[in-house]
Amino acid sequence: MPSTKYIFVTGGVTSSLGKGIISASLAKLLQARGYHVTIQKLDPYLNIDPGTLNPYEHGECFVTDDGAETDLDLGHYERFLNTPTSQANNVTTGRIYQAVINKERKGDYLGKTVQIIPHITDEIKRRIKLVGQKKKFDVVITEIGGTVGDIESFPYVEAVRQLKWELGSDSLAIHLTLVPYLSAAKELKTKPTQHSVKMLLESGVQPDILVLRTEKKLTLDIKKKVALFCNVNINSVIESIDASTIYEVPLLMYKEKLDATVLTKLNLPTNKDPELKPWKEFLYKLKNPKTEVTIGLIGKYIELPDAYKSITESFIHAGAANNCKVNLISIHSAKITEENYNEKLKNLKGILVAPGFGHRGIDGKILAAKYARENDIPFLGICLGMQCAVVEFARNVLNLEDANSSEIDRRTANPVIDIMEEQKDVLEKGGTMRLGAYSCQIKNNTKAFEVYNKNETVERHRHRYEFNNNYLAEFEKAGMIASGFNSETNLVEIIEIPKNKWFVGVQFHPEYKSTVINPHPLFVNFVKATISE
Ligand code: GLN
Repeated sequence: MPSTKYIFVTGGVTSSLGKGIISASLAKLLQARGYHVTIQKLDPYLNIDPGTLNPYEHGECFVTDDGAETDLDLGHYERFLNTPTSQANNVTTGRIYQAVINKERKGDYLGKTVQIIPHITDEIKRRIKLVGQKKKFDVVITEIGGTVGDIESFPYVEAVRQLKWELGSDSLAIHLTLVPYLSAAKELKTKPTQHSVKMLLESGVQPDILVLRTEKKLTLDIKKKVALFCNVNINSVIESIDASTIYEVPLLMYKEKLDATVLTKLNLPTNKDPELKPWKEFLYKLKNPKTEVTIGLIGKYIELPDAYKSITESFIHAGAANNCKVNLISIHSAKITEENYNEKLKNLKGILVAPGFGHRGIDGKILAAKYARENDIPFLGICLGMQCAVVEFARNVLNLEDANSSEIDRRTANPVIDIMEEQKDVLEKGGTMRLGAYSCQIKNNTKAFEVYNKNETVERHRHRYEFNNNYLAEFEKAGMIASGFNSETNLVEIIEIPKNKWFVGVQFHPEYKSTVINPHPLFVNFVKATISE
């Protein structure tokens, strides 16, 4: 059996060049040629995982089936590849140091001085190789977070240097840089790329392929110049021009022959063309919608589009599945008030109340659920969004005026949403929520059954609070039913209002499981309901 090949993706000049999308696009193309591929993200910060980070810092926290709280790039990997990732696909500096320090305390290095090189770099290398070995992948793409030259990135770049040396032709390095256009000079400039490659060379890494982000088409002269100054052949200089959608990038990379160049360099056959038909069909639908709807995304991190990345992408998948362009309007929940909510929400054909933590903006979310319920606007509440719909129903239909979630008011007399039993004694914040995949039983003759068309589904979770079953009978009598629940714990997973056209709240996060090839049925069905409004 041929050995696993390792591809390292580094970035230079600036952050946010889209290393994640380039990695995912390359992986998509290799997968479409029949290779078994995975992608790993190495993050150079000291948090053990991004679970404790505010979304303003790094955007959304993505959750895997095995309950890892990870970088949002893993969401892109899953959406592009349609295969699940796991804890092993995201490693932070914090996790690396923690492993090394734990080993030191156990005495594994007894007698030795523990150092960044070789101990930290060895741990990085071990984690990179582990991903490939576990499931016998043909190709592992490892994306190094940050920018070369950052102090934080140095041990990773050093690990790449060592691995390239050890693995020889079973590995290659791709460096993503920027070619800025100076409008005053009317010129594309290659100097930042030259400097960035020089920086990489100083660390002993010669990139094999350069991917150049640019707003304008690169001329042959520019490509030649970059090739000459950076020691790569001209066909290894790949243009990555701004695209109208990230889902276009695999096709652009195919045109630029990124996949063929990679395969040739890794001595892998290129004779089989990638099977991109389903991908192209999706893109066609995405670009040629037959109708349009406006849906409101009610959340408190709306200033940062990345904070709700998986939700916005899920709407893109679901929109295409419905031949419909979803205009997603973000509305700050803290700006929705008793006085303005009718006005603010009146043009929406559907309302999604986002997940979240803490009390900021909670009243606006509850008002949005009220508006959707009273005006029979299709509604999808996710996690905290579902909990808000429950609180709203308790207050305004069951007339429990002080009903609340005990997350918001610890002393409420009517905690219709309450802390889970097993969470009561949990004090540590990192990785301690109810995380990852759990099964959900779906009742017959419900909206949930109509959506899933089966009695069981498995969805991903990230929460500490749950529907308080002491109130369930009262809710069901008044018209809000539990249509999905976990059979082991009886935890309510889905609520709905059968009287309304489409009013569903889910304790789990369907957005983590929507992919281009498998758009999530809840989003697809929700969008469909908004179209026929
Ligand atoms: N804060 C709520 C809980 O912990 C909801 C979490 C979420 O929306 N992900 O249960």
